Amino acid sequence: STFDQMGLKDDLLRGIYDYGFEKPSAIQQRAVMPIINGRDVIAQAQSGTGKTSMIALTVCQIVETSSREVQALILSPTRELASQTEGVIRTMGNFMNIQAHACIGGKSVGEDIRKLENGVHVVSGTPGRVCDMIKRRTLRTRAIKILILDESDEMLSRGFKDQIYDVYRHLPPELQVVLISATLPHEILEMTSKFMTDPIRILV
Ligand code: AMP
Repeated sequence: STFDQMGLKDDLLRGIYDYGFEKPSAIQQRAVMPIINGRDVIAQAQSGTGKTSMIALTVCQIVETSSREVQALILSPTRELASQTEGVIRTMGNFMNIQAHACIGGKSVGEDIRKLENGVHVVSGTPGRVCDMIKRRTLRTRAIKILILDESDEMLSRGFKDQIYDVYRHLPPELQVVLISATLPHEILEMTSKFMTDPIRILV
């Protein structure tokens, strides 16, 4: 299949082709439509499969730029990955006026507060800083429609389990959840059964 057949917004398609992509990778072929259609998805995938771009393009499709509230939240195990994902969203959403912010430790809290209060559509962050911003009520969660947990096994092995559960508890009950993980150990499956409804499983 092609990107053209996915029913994506014209401005997003432009961003994808401008980025240099011609056809969807395997994970993009299998995961993009279910996610856009609102399904919970468990994707067992390593890095290098096109998962970051899959996150970026689904988020760009789902977010409505007419509202200035945070509608999509992505959690990643490292500052580098959270920033990288934010960068891809920015580039792919270049023609759509999407405001994305990387909410990560090691940067000033003041900058987070300024950016978030200005209004952003997407937050890509690490569990610790995101949890902190939610508790300060700087990151407003009421309009969040989708939570994406990237490299979930890595987040758990870095000790972020409690913070992920804490973030989840602050999100609206009608939440779509996408979980990406290279491996699916018991603790991940426990999370999927707590957070997800009738998920589709994709192995790439
Ligand atoms: P990712 O796993 O998203 O970090 O992607 C790994 C590499 O493959 C990155 O350099 C992406 O830019 C590239 N890539 C991802 N999806 C596609 C695609 N559909 N067509 C061509 N390159 C891609």
